[in-house]
Amino acid sequence: IAFESLRASTIKSSPSMAVSMAAKAMRAKGEQVIDLSLGEPDFDTPAHIVDAAVDAMKRGITRYTAPDGLPELREAIVRKFKRENGLDYAMDEISIGNGAKQILFNAFLGTLEPGDEVVVPAPYWVSYTDIVILHGGVPVIVPCGVEQAFKITPERLEAAITPKTRWFLFNSPSNPTGAIYTAAELKALGEVLARHPRVAIMSDEIYEHIVCADVPFTSFANACPELRDRTLLINGVSKAYAMTGWRLGYAAGPKALTKVLNKMQSQSTTCPSSITQVAAAAALNGPQDFVTTAVAEYKARGELVTRGFRAIPGLEVRAPEGAFYLFPKCAVHIGKTAPDGTVIENDTALAAYLLTEGKVATVPGAAFGVEPYIRLSFATSRDNLTLAIARIADALARLR
Ligand code: PLP
Repeated sequence: IAFESLRASTIKSSPSMAVSMAAKAMRAKGEQVIDLSLGEPDFDTPAHIVDAAVDAMKRGITRYTAPDGLPELREAIVRKFKRENGLDYAMDEISIGNGAKQILFNAFLGTLEPGDEVVVPAPYWVSYTDIVILHGGVPVIVPCGVEQAFKITPERLEAAITPKTRWFLFNSPSNPTGAIYTAAELKALGEVLARHPRVAIMSDEIYEHIVCADVPFTSFANACPELRDRTLLINGVSKAYAMTGWRLGYAAGPKALTKVLNKMQSQSTTCPSSITQVAAAAALNGPQDFVTTAVAEYKARGELVTRGFRAIPGLEVRAPEGAFYLFPKCAVHIGKTAPDGTVIENDTALAAYLLTEGKVATVPGAAFGVEPYIRLSFATSRDNLTLAIARIADALARLR
């Protein structure tokens, strides 16, 4: 019997997860695959955070919490916004979820009417469009290739907005491109949005701390304070504190909105794990030297891959300003033929070729809504990256 609902059939499983699974399967067969497909810090969670979690368990913080979390976590989040961003949010303007991903679920579940449009610049994080579709929304994708530094312009944003637009959803520093919007660029987008009072703004700032160029991170709320009443800032501990498996994301926005998110939370997972909440509070309140050390390493790796991939003929590489991804354009290689006679028809075929022939797992641009590109995550050791560069150079040189 068929189980899948019409609603479930409108979306696909996460493509980056699928590539990573394929790489794992090859590894299980004894192949030495380098996995550059997953956006996940390769460091361990800092010890003081782990200790806080163990301590929480021993103290009996093992029960349901309120849907919007333990007061100590919400206080830590409020303090984080004040300390790091100079932003004032009240305790009831905070929402939490099992990862930033669940915040997106809660937000769209709680706000979208069928057919409402969500403007999303592409390349976008793989899950955005599927989460919108799952909740009855219509993603309106605005292609922003390397030619425009992977960023949406005010003119293109204006052109994408219709009477049905409910949200503008974007991400800076960006997964998959590493692009960061400057304060001036955000302000210019804000001027467009100010003219459209029905449009709310979802600014995914989860890579806030992972900045590797001279472009400073600017929160959308700092650039456009006049839009505070319809801005939702999304953040989380996964990337900054190497806590992807702990599952804790958070958001700040007007109370009218966080109230809706918290209601969705209360009827789904109730709350993120109480233990994780204590750990996340320790991450936000505690020493930040882990972040500094990790970011210095990402910066060195970013420079290594930018240099390495720029030296490979036929790849157009924009140096990432943040996050831990490189997103080279690979147009020159599309249409070429592999040694076994297969034609590389698109970036999906190219990524498959790099996996089988080069033994390097990457994610094709198609997964992020633009082609032809490949995304390489540099959240892995410099040795792995050096080897991956050599393997990819070699595999590409074998295309005719
Ligand atoms: N937003 C972006 C842009 C991401 O890249 C990710 C993870 O890859 C997330 C959100 C989700 O993070 P989490 O659910 O682990 O908090």
